[in-house]
Amino acid sequence: MSTAPTRMLEPHTPLYLDTPPHVITEGSGIEVRDAEGRWYVDGVAGLWSVTLGYSEPRLVRAATEQMNRLPFYGSFNHRTNDVALALAADVAEISPIPMGRVFFGNSGSDANDSAIKFARYYHWAQGRPERRKIISHHCGYHGTTLAAGSATGLSHIHHGFGLAGDDFLSAHCPDPLHPASRGMSEEEQVDWLVRDFENLVLETGPETVAAFISEPILGAGGLIIPPAGYFARIQEVLDRHGILFIADEVITGYGRTGQMFATTALGLRPDIITSAKGLSSSYLPISATLVGERVSEVLAEGSRQIGTFGHGFTYSGHPVAAAVARETLAIVRERDIPGHVCEVAPHLARGLEKFRGAELVRDVRHYGLLGGVQFDPEQAGAEPGRLGQEVLEAAKQRGLLLRAMGDTVVFAPPLIITPGQVDEVLERFTAAYDDVLASRR
Ligand code: PLP
Repeated sequence: MSTAPTRMLEPHTPLYLDTPPHVITEGSGIEVRDAEGRWYVDGVAGLWSVTLGYSEPRLVRAATEQMNRLPFYGSFNHRTNDVALALAADVAEISPIPMGRVFFGNSGSDANDSAIKFARYYHWAQGRPERRKIISHHCGYHGTTLAAGSATGLSHIHHGFGLAGDDFLSAHCPDPLHPASRGMSEEEQVDWLVRDFENLVLETGPETVAAFISEPILGAGGLIIPPAGYFARIQEVLDRHGILFIADEVITGYGRTGQMFATTALGLRPDIITSAKGLSSSYLPISATLVGERVSEVLAEGSRQIGTFGHGFTYSGHPVAAAVARETLAIVRERDIPGHVCEVAPHLARGLEKFRGAELVRDVRHYGLLGGVQFDPEQAGAEPGRLGQEVLEAAKQRGLLLRAMGDTVVFAPPLIITPGQVDEVLERFTAAYDDVLASRR
């Protein structure tokens, strides 16, 4: 019998829990308040996403004005709204690749589903309909809809839902701590990963592969930063076999790495880039799938054969979400948020580095305003994932909200965070760590 205290089917939550959820009711700057009236520093910006913090009046104004002027008009059948068109031009201006067109959706998952469909359509339009397969990483996260969930390399996203299947293949997680590459130099590790990747392509048949999708830095898989040179070498394999590259910048897009896009930061050459979260600082749901020129042209050719382009959502280019996204991009550019991230990130990195070699800690990782401390359950004689949960709970008690991916506790604060606020995050985290350590002695 269910004793669930809520009627809401909570996403990514064990549905058998009989405790009430933690309810957030208010936000200001980089802090949120819960229903009990306690304030917390939000160390993960909601879901890696509230880049401009919780009380940006310009975003509220942009939404209100647009609501008053035109609350909705869709974009089907060659009729659209002025704001969606203007946002498309804004995105083209900051795109890190020569962009042909941009497709708007509502979430990171639907952006990735769209990108996967566009990759297949691209091949189909050129007489290669058998190129349907998608390669992604074990431990990659691309969302939970049918295609994005299938490309996600985390088994709990597949189980029970009938996801993945023959059209979705997984390459090794490009984790420098991967047990199979223990003892290898970084170069040897890249060799090993790329060799295995190409073997996967050859075994399945390159003529059946549509695209490879990857996050530049793998977030929900545990903040995995691939070894240096990895993507350049993978790109050679993709080029050799005519496979498209989709960069999932849902977390990294719009400033988090210290560049507007991680594509620039890491020197990637994607054909399609997906983005969401930071596009509107999460004030409203909107995603953007940036389609490179070459792919855009082929999509147009394909649609000529069919008579239309059979893809799109009622809320594609929703004017209120688009108005908020336009204002977000204006703020990100005016305040040089990527430049600000470059200034603040070393502060976070230095603070996290103090944990390297600490008792219970296996690894410390960071890039831009992304950080991760991986705890070592073996050292503590704990079940996998347990230490991550303990640190998370202790941090909450200390007034800091974080997330744990297994035993890796991640940091992804709002990008407007100041050095002083980074210190506060680190102080609270240190206190939480000490609490866990003391409780285990
Ligand atoms: N891609 C990445 C890299 C993500 O981190 C996420 C969500 O966290 C998604 C896609 C899915 O986005 P959404 O939850 O908006 O569907």
